[in-house]
Amino acid sequence: MKKIFLLLALPLLAQAQKIDKIITRSETERIETYLASDELAGRKPFTPGIEKAAQFISAEFEKAGLQKTNGSYLQSFPMYQSKVLSVAGGLDEQTLESKQVAIISKEATIQIDENSGFEVASIKEGENFGQNAYRIMSAKKPTIAFLHESFAKYIPRLSGRGPLRENQSTIIFVVANSIPTKFKVNATQQVEKLQLSNVVGIIPGKSRPNEYVIFSGHYDHLGIGKPVAGDSIYNGANDDAAGTTAVMMLAKYYAKKRNNERTLIFAAFTAEESGGHGSVYFSKQFNPDQVMAMFNLEMIGTESKWGKNSAYITGYEKSSMGEILKKNLAGSPFTFYPDPYLDQNLFYRSDNATLAELGVPAHTISTSKMDSEPNYHKASDEVQTLDLDNMTEIIKAIAKSATSIISGQDTPSRVDTAKLK
Ligand SMILES: [Zn+2]
Repeated sequence: MKKIFLLLALPLLAQAQKIDKIITRSETERIETYLASDELAGRKPFTPGIEKAAQFISAEFEKAGLQKTNGSYLQSFPMYQSKVLSVAGGLDEQTLESKQVAIISKEATIQIDENSGFEVASIKEGENFGQNAYRIMSAKKPTIAFLHESFAKYIPRLSGRGPLRENQSTIIFVVANSIPTKFKVNATQQVEKLQLSNVVGIIPGKSRPNEYVIFSGHYDHLGIGKPVAGDSIYNGANDDAAGTTAVMMLAKYYAKKRNNERTLIFAAFTAEESGGHGSVYFSKQFNPDQVMAMFNLEMIGTESKWGKNSAYITGYEKSSMGEILKKNLAGSPFTFYPDPYLDQNLFYRSDNATLAELGVPAHTISTSKMDSEPNYHKASDEVQTLDLDNMTEIIKAIAKSATSIISGQDTPSRVDTAKLK
């Protein structure tokens, strides 16, 4: 009996030792500390700090031996930054003032009137501004929207939106209590075309190379803001240097193991905080049918509301992925829970959303206490506030929980897109 027991127990023990040697607290600390350092100045898109972060992640992917796509770990795409220089025009008999207008466009010259074929929309007094403005801004056709004066305070925020995507249509918001019969808007803008980059590395699958499993997190954050107690750098240690660290650690782990049957894709996304542009671009490079699962990792550096050795999965009931992950951790001290903050719409708010909306079992794993995380989106989101031991255990648990998906033994059910919001 003893001998048989030893024979059975050995491989498990060997695996445990190996993972503990690769996913270590000191590696977690080294990577996390650099990503969240003041040197990177809050990793805001279009700043030197985020470029440094991208170089660092690329170098680590290289060291781990991941494959590049198109000769680079950087997956670059163009974005547009625009600044209004002049606005003039009129609404019926009234002259338009520039403070009445917000322009979202990557055109340098805008000259429109009621005959230009723009869609006409409005947000009336008492209507939900956020929902309507979001719908209008995502319109595929050029649109002019007239806002009731009670929403005039939102004009600066609408104007300050950016960066803009390649396919952004021209959207003009004008404060006017009713839709005018005649209107004219003439504007000029300074428009700059800039590059943004995700960082992507690959470990090809041994027997199912065309079936993908994605591990992702966003490496951008908010940059530099108003000083609070002398600190103006938004380090984003938890949001989302922590998830990015996990992606890099998992890449190292699976690169050492080299036993994945499915292809593993590791992605650090840019510009999550400014509109999810990185993950939207990334997600469109795939046939969604080939993506078997996406583990998006967001804010795993603090303890969850249940304490250590636990995390939650957003959209838990929308595919069988959560159940599979839980099954693979049976007997371990680690537990995954369904997202307890449903009213916050986390499933739709992070980088998993684009692929989930195409039916991919794409979920975000997090520990962030969304009702009481004291440093969320503050300059005080620093490494010292994280529990790096617990974070290391979470990364190990994610690695173990993914085992049967990576081997091709389990395939999570697809997200039913008809049931999404
Ligand atoms: Zn985040």
